[in-house]
Amino acid sequence: MPQIQGSCLCKQITITVKDRSAADKAGVEICHCTDCRQFTGAPAGYLVQVPHADAEISGTPKQFSVTAESGNTVVRNFCANCGSSLFDEGATKGKYFIHGGIFPPKSLPQPTMELWMRSAESWERPFPGVELYEKQQ
Ligand SMILES: [Zn+2]
Ligand SMILES: [Zn+2]
Repeated sequence: MPQIQGSCLCKQITITVKDRSAADKAGVEICHCTDCRQFTGAPAGYLVQVPHADAEISGTPKQFSVTAESGNTVVRNFCANCGSSLFDEGATKGKYFIHGGIFPPKSLPQPTMELWMRSAESWERPFPGVELYEKQQ
């Protein structure tokens, strides 16, 4: 089973995706919502969708809970030491939405969908072949 392992910038927290086949199948979800912008510090979140059973988290992330624009309660997880944003929970039960930037270069699944296109920058272009949604899916 091919794995991918990522970490926050200071390496106190690591996340191992033990079997990446489900993540590869679901693909990366790109989220342009204002919460993802603010939490990641980038114009969009690049979210790797991993079933809870396939992820192993070592270290203790700090959590922050927020009601998203979609109405969902989303728990945002980050490293209290270095500030790296790590993953989100709550938008879909049973899955972590792990922030792609914590994984090594050239390890991410292909993008499959982009959400909250109405908040995307005018100069951002969707990736070819992805499903596009003006708001939440
Ligand atoms: Zn850290
Ligand atoms: Zn978002």
